[in-house]
Amino acid sequence: MYNFEELNEVTRKWMLEEFRNEEETGNPYRSTRLSAAGLEAFPQEMETAIVTGNEETLAESLSNPAYWLPFETYERGGNVHRRQINPAKAAEFLANTEFNTWYVRGLARRLMEEGEEYCQVYRAAPAQEPRGECLLHDGQTYPVERIYRGHRARYWSPLGDPNALSIPVGTNCHHSIRRVP
Ligand SMILES: [Zn+2]
Repeated sequence: MYNFEELNEVTRKWMLEEFRNEEETGNPYRSTRLSAAGLEAFPQEMETAIVTGNEETLAESLSNPAYWLPFETYERGGNVHRRQINPAKAAEFLANTEFNTWYVRGLARRLMEEGEEYCQVYRAAPAQEPRGECLLHDGQTYPVERIYRGHRARYWSPLGDPNALSIPVGTNCHHSIRRVP
């Protein structure tokens, strides 16, 4: 369970607005592991979680096996391999990263609207294997606008900017932001 310190009605309102703005671009982020049924269901499941749920309710609603492709391919050592997708695990993985991504985007927008200049990065849930690039950011204070603009930019090619400061830094990063204490 993530510790989202300001997951309340005001933050949810900004999360929803930011999410809908990305949907309206016509090229919103989608997991490549989702089936056609999953791709169709995802925006509504995401909105429901933003309005009334959290990363756990989202994982539960996305765990429907029909939402996932049976297999995925991946590369290791120059060879392409195939592996089965476990719907429950894939749902948890996607829900954690996506819910946190929208929480960070929404809270950053809220803080900017409230005239805050800075925010602090913190670990909102324990990580099994902390990544090096995350440890650099843990507990650091950054201009909130930089976090807002860094949304997905580091790891998602349509927004591509490998030098951006994206929180979360990628999938499986449990870092979020908070108001400066
Ligand atoms: Zn992290």
